[in-house]
Amino acid sequence: MTKEEFRKQAHLLVDWMADYLEEKENYPVTPAVKPKDIFQQIPPMAPEKAESFERIFDDFKTIILPGMTHWQHPSFFAYFPANNSEPSILAEMLMSTLGAQCMSWLTSPAATELEERVCEWLRDAKGIDATWKGVIHDTASTATLSAILTAREKATQFQINERGFTNEQTFRIYSSSHVHSSIDKAVKIAGIGVQNLVRIPVDEEFEMIPDELEKAILADKKAGFSPLCVVSALGTTSSTAVDPIDEITQIAQKHGLWHHIDAAFAGTALLLPEFQHLIKGHQGADSYVFNPHKWMFTNFDCTVFFVREPQYLVNTFSLTPEYLKTKLDDQVNNYRDWGIQLGRRFRALKLWFVIRTYGLEGIRQKLRHHLDLAQKAKNWIENEPGLEILAPVNFNTICFRMSDDHQSLDRQNQLNESWMNQVNATGKVFFSHTKLNGKFVIRWVIGQSDVEEKHILAAWSLLLEERKKLLAEQIT
Ligand SMILES: *Cc1c(COP(=O)(O)O)cnc(C)c1O
Repeated sequence: MTKEEFRKQAHLLVDWMADYLEEKENYPVTPAVKPKDIFQQIPPMAPEKAESFERIFDDFKTIILPGMTHWQHPSFFAYFPANNSEPSILAEMLMSTLGAQCMSWLTSPAATELEERVCEWLRDAKGIDATWKGVIHDTASTATLSAILTAREKATQFQINERGFTNEQTFRIYSSSHVHSSIDKAVKIAGIGVQNLVRIPVDEEFEMIPDELEKAILADKKAGFSPLCVVSALGTTSSTAVDPIDEITQIAQKHGLWHHIDAAFAGTALLLPEFQHLIKGHQGADSYVFNPHKWMFTNFDCTVFFVREPQYLVNTFSLTPEYLKTKLDDQVNNYRDWGIQLGRRFRALKLWFVIRTYGLEGIRQKLRHHLDLAQKAKNWIENEPGLEILAPVNFNTICFRMSDDHQSLDRQNQLNESWMNQVNATGKVFFSHTKLNGKFVIRWVIGQSDVEEKHILAAWSLLLEERKKLLAEQIT
């Protein structure tokens, strides 16, 4: 592609992008496609001959777009959002234009130093201890894996990195029974074995019970296991339950465990001072992760990982072969030594653009708007006979279902699943589900960049309408 052609196409693309962002809610949230529908439209062989950009872009519009789930649709209420914003998109364009690989200070000094600064900005804005340091990763899964690997190496004086698992020591990791599957994955990859992930019972609000944690640690010590790390959740994926961070920190410190706080989704709420009490006592914990790519208007991927003592990370991950050594290594951060990847993207640029464009005030305003909308939806559900909410609405996620005590749990679960599927099949909204105490619940997450009251009102009408249809079918 010539530079002139690039200029021409880029202008056209930006126009298309701006149109898309304006019109995104006119698309169905989820596509009406079957498995392999898209695959079969793509030729089995790569083209030998060059194709025009017009042709490629046409195919994007006719083949790819109809097969996409529109994550930025304001009526996307499923999972957790991966919301974006205009400044974040613009930063991504610049990042890919510079095409920098930001593995060390020397390979992109500004990228390293901006990363240091924006991590400090976020740390301070969230009320995280001012001595902690941050690093940006792709995903929370990666950050959690690096936390567990670092805990393992710290506990063994970095010997497993050296010699592999040589002795009989069996590590144990603790988390609530509601913890995210990325913890299971990290425990597997770290060589600890998923059967050594101990699930601590939760209370009626789905929060880890600290006494049960301590009991499990003591029982494990007695049985000859080596308690290594506890992962607490600030906002579980099912219902956004918040484990008691302060008490868990105290237990972890008392027994010499690493404490990693997984705040992947709900951590963004700490930008609001009224939520910062949730991390009271975190100063004695060891690491904390949250995803600006979920609820902070920074498009996927962008995870910020804070640690109390970065030297443990560096001792775990640093390799520095001869060809990567530089004269400045003791004056600068080489972020390649803070995690798993060598090569790194320039993600700090997105955060810088987003935070400066909105200001912390603007971000807080948007978050409070989402939290208000969630309270509205919660009230509608609470006041509707036959519906119930099964978990505290701590942030902007509501777990609800139709309940009917005359029917078996299985039957009720089927009914709720049909309800969700019918609502989703309209293509106007997208909800996902979880199970709480065996009960199928619909999760309604209100965190889209452009979600407004009209969107949740329309979703609510649709829910009621489809429920009426479903119940009418039950009677006939
Ligand atoms: C989404 C989520 C994760 C995983 O996030 P990725 O960035 O996709 O790895 C982990 N923990 C919690 C609590 C989450 O909500």
